[in-house]
Amino acid sequence: MKKSIYFVANWKMNGGLNSLKDLVKINKFLSKPNSFKIIVCPPILFTKFFATNLKKLKFSFGSQDVSVIDKDFGAYTGEVSSKMLIENRIQYVLVGHSERRTLGDTNQIIKHKLISALRNKVKVIFCFGENLNDKKNNLSLKVIKKQILSSVDKKLVSKNIIFAYEPIWSIGTGIVPEKEYLNYIFSNIKKILKEYLKLKNPEILYGGSVSSETINDLKKVNHLSGFLVGGASLKSSSFINLLKSYKYN
Ligand code: PEP
Repeated sequence: MKKSIYFVANWKMNGGLNSLKDLVKINKFLSKPNSFKIIVCPPILFTKFFATNLKKLKFSFGSQDVSVIDKDFGAYTGEVSSKMLIENRIQYVLVGHSERRTLGDTNQIIKHKLISALRNKVKVIFCFGENLNDKKNNLSLKVIKKQILSSVDKKLVSKNIIFAYEPIWSIGTGIVPEKEYLNYIFSNIKKILKEYLKLKNPEILYGGSVSSETINDLKKVNHLSGFLVGGASLKSSSFINLLKSYKYN
């Protein structure tokens, strides 16, 4: 059987109730036979509305964040627990995204978010990646290794973690890494995950300026299980074009 390929749509702080019409189109597109595994991460307050208004849901929902507090309930103003996510049928959560790291999520905070998500069986899409300075100074692998090993420890490892390599210099810039660079990074991520976390077949996604224009080269990268998509996931037309380009090119 052909392995499913992930496309994770990260809407960030975008979208609204009227985005339902985009999701209806995407759902319709996915009702034809395909090998895609689609996860849509809108701002979570819309998810319930979308889920109840879509018939025969063909994709899963994810959250863009989860509380660092490893509790189901309590006096933690503004926090949303992993129990609340799973009760609302949100099965995935993005953790470690560079935009959240910029807002203060440290490797330690990210580790606690991971613990909290996994305890309630919310699958984690764990994001990491170097910035442009790191790359220029040949530090990419060092930075990536530190990000992974400071947040994901051996005791936490399970099938419920999907890894997502997102070079910060590629997010939202339209610049994608060369295939050779990605092959080098991905084979080293695999090595790190095998050597330190004993993971034999980890799922590793790529994120950063994925679009119908860039997908053709990106899909040739080795060890890739799918993509994390920001800008190109905001409109059904660009997202469906992206899926079609992946399928037909
Ligand atoms: C992202 O923010 O995770 C992302 C990949 O964004 P974009 O596709 O817009 O580069």
